[in-house]
Amino acid sequence: MTCSPELVDPLQVLRNVWGYPEFRGMQPDVVNNVISGRDTLVLFPTGKGKSLCFQLPALCMPGTAVVVSPLVALMRDQVEELKELGVVAGALWSEQSPAEAAEVKSRLRAGEMKLLYVTPERVAAGGLRSMLGPDGLSLIAVDEAHCISFWGNNFRKDYLALGRLKELYPGVPIVALTATADPHTQKDIVKLLNIAGAEVYVDSFDRKNISYEILPRSNPRAQLLDFLKRHEGESGIVYCLSRKKVEETVEWLNENGVRAKHYHARLDPAVKAANQDAFRLEEGLCLVATVAFGMGINKPNVRYVAHLDLPSSVEGYYQETGRAGRDGLPSEAFMVFGMQDIVQRGRMIDEGDASDQVKRIERAKLNALVGICETTACRRQAILGHFGEQHPGNCGNCDTCTKPIETWDGSDAAIKALAAIYRTGERFGVGHVIDVLVGKVTEKTKRFGHVDLAVFGAGKEFSAASWQSIYRQLLALNLIRVEHDEFGAMKLQESAAAVFKKERSVTLRRDRSVTRGAKRAADT
Ligand code: ADP
Ligand code: ZN
Repeated sequence: MTCSPELVDPLQVLRNVWGYPEFRGMQPDVVNNVISGRDTLVLFPTGKGKSLCFQLPALCMPGTAVVVSPLVALMRDQVEELKELGVVAGALWSEQSPAEAAEVKSRLRAGEMKLLYVTPERVAAGGLRSMLGPDGLSLIAVDEAHCISFWGNNFRKDYLALGRLKELYPGVPIVALTATADPHTQKDIVKLLNIAGAEVYVDSFDRKNISYEILPRSNPRAQLLDFLKRHEGESGIVYCLSRKKVEETVEWLNENGVRAKHYHARLDPAVKAANQDAFRLEEGLCLVATVAFGMGINKPNVRYVAHLDLPSSVEGYYQETGRAGRDGLPSEAFMVFGMQDIVQRGRMIDEGDASDQVKRIERAKLNALVGICETTACRRQAILGHFGEQHPGNCGNCDTCTKPIETWDGSDAAIKALAAIYRTGERFGVGHVIDVLVGKVTEKTKRFGHVDLAVFGAGKEFSAASWQSIYRQLLALNLIRVEHDEFGAMKLQESAAAVFKKERSVTLRRDRSVTRGAKRAADT
């Protein structure tokens, strides 16, 4: 639809076109800033209505708005939604049918098109203006703008080319939008898009209706089933790292009376589409998926998101859990994690083909997430703190708030744990070192002569599971590190020296699910 002059009041457009009575949150400020022709950076968490921040100005300004989007599927969804509202919108992408592309181009030339969705390569190639009608470009929106940054989860090389936009189209306001707000990513977006003067709008990232719970993994399947019992008849997502685990988990859930379907990138496209539709339309379905499932999921009443494996970063965790509770009703984020996750994630980073610089960033991101898993303070505070946002006091809606963590002076235990690493030569993974501590005679402890060490059996007062927890915390405290090779060898950090010398005490959390003498966790 083209805007007749009496429609140009943004609030009227909101009411007439979208049928919404009022703007939400910071939307009116953003919309006015864009309409006045200024560059704008919008940092809103998922679900706060970012799309409207460029769609509505596009209808109030002369010319065509160009929207850069990373995924064809996302573009098509938005175009469909706009068409349903009576807005003339279209998309151009490489595998489109010639007839469809011709139709889009003819409406562009006629100056009828209010929003045109394109891929980053397309817009960075220049030449868009020659395709447009007499009113030219109204604005350029860069959706999922974090894709331009190494720091932003989901970095995409083709986004870097967007740095040319300011030069190619001077005078056209750029609106960059993302749900990733960490300060590094934010800085990168401004720098790489050349929008130093942009007005920045940051809405709170607090998803108050989502409660957080993170447990040490002891028996993941039983832990998951226990959790799902609280959500009978409700829909939710269970994330796993690998396709294999997705398959196994679905099978197991169905055997145990939970209606579950699976989703991962390699699935047959027809099955994938069918399962995605089922999730969207049916209630009470548990979708077990890899992270391939998510972007563009708009189901409002996802009641829970469970992670059986550690995500790659706090941003990833926040985005994935953020798919719960878009309708504002109480929802749960649940995760189990173990030392093995850290080793596995670390190995994925090391074996990836990123540059050393990127690998360092990825490791830092992983460590930040481990810190949130092991925190004894309010999880919401820790998560928001990561995004540079302060939460006033404890939230009362996360596990560390509702079941306060008991802490204890773990200095002596830490010394034993560190000594066991040192005495075995900093060459072994957590499983073996714990065998040594609890004095377990195995082929390996015998072969390496570890049964003769003074530390052998020196940690009998705790169960193996408790030692697992202690090691995870030493890692989160940066007293040790874990090699990301197949053995996951633990090594001491320099900071460990102060613990040995008793110059530094170590406060540890007492994990609820881990008790003295508990059976060794099979798969942490
Ligand atoms: P985001 O991109 O920030 O995740 P969306 O743009 O997809 O969020 O918007 C989330 C939901 O909120 C959508 O269903 C959208 O239609 C709705 N919405 C956005 N703005 C408003 C508003 N002012 N009033 C009512 N609903 C709105
Ligand atoms: Zn809390």
